[in-house]
Amino acid sequence: MRAVIVAMAAALGFVAVVVSALPTAVAQEQAQVSLRTLHVQGNVHLIAGAGVNVVVQVGPFGPVVVDPGPARMGKQVLAAIRTLSPRPVRYVINTHLHDDHTGANDIVAAAGSPVGQGRGSTVIGAGLQATRAEIIANEQVLQRMGNPPAPSKPAAVVLWPTTTYSNPSKEFFTNGEGLQMVHQPSAHTDGDSLVFFRRSDVIAAGDVYSTVSYPRIDLAAGGSINGVLEGLNRLLALAISGEKTEGGTMIVPGHGRISDEADLVEYRDMVTIIRDRVQDLIEKKRTLEQVKAARPTMDFDGQYGNAPGWTSDQFIEAVYRGLAGSR
Ligand SMILES: [Zn+2]
Repeated sequence: MRAVIVAMAAALGFVAVVVSALPTAVAQEQAQVSLRTLHVQGNVHLIAGAGVNVVVQVGPFGPVVVDPGPARMGKQVLAAIRTLSPRPVRYVINTHLHDDHTGANDIVAAAGSPVGQGRGSTVIGAGLQATRAEIIANEQVLQRMGNPPAPSKPAAVVLWPTTTYSNPSKEFFTNGEGLQMVHQPSAHTDGDSLVFFRRSDVIAAGDVYSTVSYPRIDLAAGGSINGVLEGLNRLLALAISGEKTEGGTMIVPGHGRISDEADLVEYRDMVTIIRDRVQDLIEKKRTLEQVKAARPTMDFDGQYGNAPGWTSDQFIEAVYRGLAGSR
């Protein structure tokens, strides 16, 4: 799988997007980053290099953008979307609330136009203007962006979802295929959506899945280790591998490389093993410090333990607090 992706990257080359006339600090940061666009499968493309994976479905209806990325990358992401399609952006979808995924909502939604309303969802008046794309997410995303617990401040109104859903899933049809948003409660956060492009056979997994770190569990935003595991198992239930277990459904994690079902099985097994080890130590009445000292992640730290901002100890602590119910 890795070889395939590298070959694809080489074949497609790099799309360097240069943004000028920005304030100096921002311009310097942006000038150093070049984004890559990769064709994932079917109608679905990946814009990589923005700090998160930006997934874009293209077609005659206009682009659908899942997680447009952080605010500082908005203009570059939009320029990269333009290399895939000149049409107005139709929908922006958020897998969850974090600002590295939603910060560019405003910039990308402003490049769009809305498409009717309804479809059994709630449309919020604020921020919905005639020339903007809808921003769609689970209702918990709006709750937490608009009304976060102190001392956090609400996100800017222009970043909020304009359409939310509260059912277990939301489905609609765009660019010739069915699109399913599946709510995964209490996983990375309590408002996670897995976004399944059914005909292209691609799933944008958000931060329930990462190939470059242990799963990040945001306890304060309602996340939990068991919810993450349910999410990984849900992804496995949706995914179907191709011949000889290679290929088939492609899964795009929030961070890291495009995966197939075999990659996901390996990751799910790793998370299950660590969860079981920590659970076992909790049953033996070990304290958090004793659990950390027992190094329940040791054999996986080489691969997953070096992520910026999410160390092995932070992961163990989140697993422990979730399982011990002591947060
Ligand atoms: Zn996140």
